[in-house]
Amino acid sequence: MNLNSIPAFQDNYIWVLNNDDGRCLIVDPGEAAPVVRAIEAHSWQPEAIFLTHHHNDHVGGVKELLQRFPDLVVYGPAETQDKGATQVVAEGDSVVVLGHEFSVFATPGHTLGHICFFSFPYLFCGDTLFSGGCGRLFEGTAEQMYQSFCKINALPDDTVICCAHEYTLGNMKFALSILPQDRALNEYYRKVKELRAKNQSTLPVILKKERQINLFLRTEDDDLIDVINQETNLQHSEARFAWLRSKKDNF
Ligand code: ZN
Ligand code: FE
Repeated sequence: MNLNSIPAFQDNYIWVLNNDDGRCLIVDPGEAAPVVRAIEAHSWQPEAIFLTHHHNDHVGGVKELLQRFPDLVVYGPAETQDKGATQVVAEGDSVVVLGHEFSVFATPGHTLGHICFFSFPYLFCGDTLFSGGCGRLFEGTAEQMYQSFCKINALPDDTVICCAHEYTLGNMKFALSILPQDRALNEYYRKVKELRAKNQSTLPVILKKERQINLFLRTEDDDLIDVINQETNLQHSEARFAWLRSKKDNF
């Protein structure tokens, strides 16, 4: 499978996997036009759509794509049923698309029904994990999001994380406001700043890297614990995750 990203709106990415035979899978098509252009340019035959959650910047293009390609199967959580999902999937399900098995796991937090799709090495995590950061808690709690991050963190080191937004630069600015001396954060920030100055994508990102530069995956890190302890004493990883999330809300 080959991985492609199609920029949409201000900072969304619509991910597309395609097989050498031209069949393709589209993830979170918030708008149809750029997807249709890519399909035509590559002569792809769309086989399925994956939806991670119900927000419009992820589902807005589904109806138009279904009109053009009526055989498309649209897999999504129950919250996307009225947004065009034709096959509702949930935690523990697996679906076969492009001849590959994808497992579905529940990652509530950003929305209550948010799901991720995983077929090694690809993880489509929507608005759950962003490079260097974490999705906003629109519907769920920090505790739910923490559990969702634990599921992602349990995947193999070389997992290719495909997030739905280009938020990396802002996330690294936030991370450096917490740990200004951290070497991994500073190095990654420099690299990301260079890429963005050239208007290049910072995604996808490898989980092994993300474990070094995403503070939301570093809630056991001694330096981070020291910083938090200067303000408050939090014994548990989950509470430190919530502390980080609320700091980011006010950043
Ligand atoms: Zn969203
Ligand atoms: Fe989004």
